[in-house]
Amino acid sequence: MSEQHILAIDQGTTSTRAIVFDRRGRIRSVGQREHEQIFPQAGWVEHDPVEIWDNTREVIGLALGRANVPGGGLAAIGITNQRETTVVWDRSTGEPVHHAIVWQDTRTADLVAQLGGEHGPDRFKQICGLPLATYFAGPKVRWILDHVDGAREQAEAGELLFGTIDSWLVWNLTGGPDGGIHVTDVTNASRTMLMDLRTLSWSPELCEAIGVPQAMLPEIRSSSEVYGRSDKLDVPIAGMLGDQHAATFGQACFERGMSKNTYGTGNFMLLNTGTEIVPSENGLITTVCYQLGDQDPVYALEGSIAVTGSLVQWLRDNLGLISDAAEIEELAAQVDDNGGCYIVPAFSGLFAPYWRDDARGAVVGLTRYVTKHHIARAALEATAYQTREVLDAMQADSGVQISELRVDGGMVANELLMQFQADILDLDVVRPEVAETTALGAAYAAGIAVGFWEGQEELAGHWSVDRRWSPRMRSQERERLYRTWKKAVTRTFDWVD
Ligand code: ADP
Repeated sequence: MSEQHILAIDQGTTSTRAIVFDRRGRIRSVGQREHEQIFPQAGWVEHDPVEIWDNTREVIGLALGRANVPGGGLAAIGITNQRETTVVWDRSTGEPVHHAIVWQDTRTADLVAQLGGEHGPDRFKQICGLPLATYFAGPKVRWILDHVDGAREQAEAGELLFGTIDSWLVWNLTGGPDGGIHVTDVTNASRTMLMDLRTLSWSPELCEAIGVPQAMLPEIRSSSEVYGRSDKLDVPIAGMLGDQHAATFGQACFERGMSKNTYGTGNFMLLNTGTEIVPSENGLITTVCYQLGDQDPVYALEGSIAVTGSLVQWLRDNLGLISDAAEIEELAAQVDDNGGCYIVPAFSGLFAPYWRDDARGAVVGLTRYVTKHHIARAALEATAYQTREVLDAMQADSGVQISELRVDGGMVANELLMQFQADILDLDVVRPEVAETTALGAAYAAGIAVGFWEGQEELAGHWSVDRRWSPRMRSQERERLYRTWKKAVTRTFDWVD
């Protein structure tokens, strides 16, 4: 067979990457471009979908050029993407009618409260597995239809299309206005608040209640099947998963009870619950983990944390404390502890396990003693404490005792953070050889669909440990720090009226 590679497109919150993988799941080449983060007002976050599509084409060219792989050397393309981020575009011109509204954006807070009404935030949880929150796509679509002139009428007439970024990319890759296919996968659809988790189809009840016409919705497909062909490369597009689901797949968490935690812009821990839909009583969400072709879907419990790595970006871009994200480690390493300082980065309210739209960030415990080194340390520690909250909730909901944590994402390069994470969880933290698990998961899903890889057993054989961190902290100290963190969190509540 001449096709020896799979191309994965990883469209993330901060950047777009294209990665060429070989048969062993090793990286042959990478192309990457950052895109602009647009903040029109406090709490709003947008991306330009046209910039994202331009960057996607560019990074594909870069990656193929660097690997010296022509389009003909590819067996398939897999796509993974930042989830919930919402695009509405014109079917005939391909022009978006508004910037993409990003998952972190809180503009739908009032709408979401209104939708909950007397039932509260869990009104639709039975059907879609999610609490009403600004995070999810459905209310963002409704906002666009309410605020762009004529959009609702056009959407009802089928002239406008909605998609998360996966749909936007696959529609453009397969021809755009000239025959582009309008599809999404079950994992991305499970983040819209519009899909029924049991039937894996759009729920007429939810679409009606949230105010999204079904005529604009993509067709829901599995995460691993041939959806169509890229018109330029003439290669099948055969895998599609939301980024966190892809990372779970790329970490080979194929068995019930296996979990991973990704440290990127935010943090996302997923626990594979097999074919069982486990409802959460501790502030987690229930989501589709993945579905391979016509096999039964696999579900997951998820703990979503809005702000982890983006707090590091904030120290870089808004405070100028560092010039590069990696510098935070050196800064933090100059002190042994946080000096009593805690940062609760509730920039987009708080997600799991609190789901508080009314929270805003706080720096607490300040004294004249606190330096920029303590602030840097507190910023890293915030990631670890938030992860502990989610892990505790996950064990309570599932009854599974997690024995070690597989980690990935941009922040796991930070060894100080990884050691502190092991300390605060009192658990081994394990980083795999291929840390680009998100892209790898999309490549795996695409490769399985076209027979490039035989199945999950073969893929699990690719996984190997790069580094392991074991807990070293005394339990008294661990619990004292965590208790103080919990107190700090309460200081962020009820900030927005
Ligand atoms: P995403 O896929 O969400 O765009 P990535 O997995 O690429 O994110 O991770 C990027 C995030 O990781 C950024 O928010 C950045 O601030 C953070 N980051 C990158 N390197 C480090 C580091 N060495 N220490 C701490 N944070 C880091």
